[in-house]
Amino acid sequence: MGSVAFDAIETPFGKTDKIIGGAGTYIALAASFFENKQQIVSVVGEDFPQETLQMLKDRGVQLDGLQIKQGEKTFFWSGKYHNDMNSRDTLVTELNVLENFDPILPQSYQGAEFLMLGNLSPQVQKLVIERLETRPKLIAMDTMNFWMDIALEPLKETLKLIDLLIINDEEARQLSGEYSLVKASQVIRAMGPKYLIIKKGEHGALLFHEDKAFFAPALPLEEVFDPTGAGDTFAGGFMGYLSSADDISYDNMKRAIIAGSALASFCVEKFGTQRLQEITQTDIEKRINKFVELTDFSMVETIN
Ligand code: AMP
Repeated sequence: MGSVAFDAIETPFGKTDKIIGGAGTYIALAASFFENKQQIVSVVGEDFPQETLQMLKDRGVQLDGLQIKQGEKTFFWSGKYHNDMNSRDTLVTELNVLENFDPILPQSYQGAEFLMLGNLSPQVQKLVIERLETRPKLIAMDTMNFWMDIALEPLKETLKLIDLLIINDEEARQLSGEYSLVKASQVIRAMGPKYLIIKKGEHGALLFHEDKAFFAPALPLEEVFDPTGAGDTFAGGFMGYLSSADDISYDNMKRAIIAGSALASFCVEKFGTQRLQEITQTDIEKRINKFVELTDFSMVETIN
């Protein structure tokens, strides 16, 4: 579940007109590399291109829960990145069809075992959970500062219902009121989710569970062209990997983080979803191996 959108992006490398974006689109595309039983819950306007819907279908993504609102416009977001690419300004957010989004879950979606709630209002995220007759094995969720500012109480209600929260370091600090990410992880997990992933952009990601922590680096890339959707791609890759292995153990989550990070490293190489539409399974396998190499070392005993 997540936005399916038009984006206009400006980076130090160039600028796009309206291109395909949206958290739901990135999540679905990324997950499609690992499993082929995905179902999108979202809404677009009549202006959304058929070819994109067909591209998603061709990748095995079911669209029965994607509402197409005649006479209405698709969600539009525009952002401009600063030179360091780590920060961006939102220039335009036109909610359009998302303004009164009432998520519909077709009967064919009942029984879903993995649920990824992309960044949308916590009230809508909660509705999706409630509308599933059987609780999925794993419910993961993304959110952002925007919802912490305007809907903190509903957000806390939704957090009680989920297993895993995937947010970035700045968001973790805001949600917990703690600067230390270790302390933040304790405060946030006391709010509901047993698992927490904190993304640190080009500095990788941390997974917290019980008294354990795991760190995965991001691949050092020569050039980051457009970071839009990297977080959603990470989440989609992570969930797709877990669901294909049908294994939600902590150890498998570590592998899923590497899978998600590998996909996110492709996402940033070109504008929008372009790179994700080009890459093959072989490209992904090679990149996962680069991650393994990056942290592979053996310790020589030098201390007596
Ligand atoms: P990310 O770069 O991972 O934060 O995600 C970027 C995507 O989120 C873009 O493709 C946007 O269309 C989408 N997006 C931006 N703002 C919102 C919002 N308020 N609600 C839903 N989706 C959004």
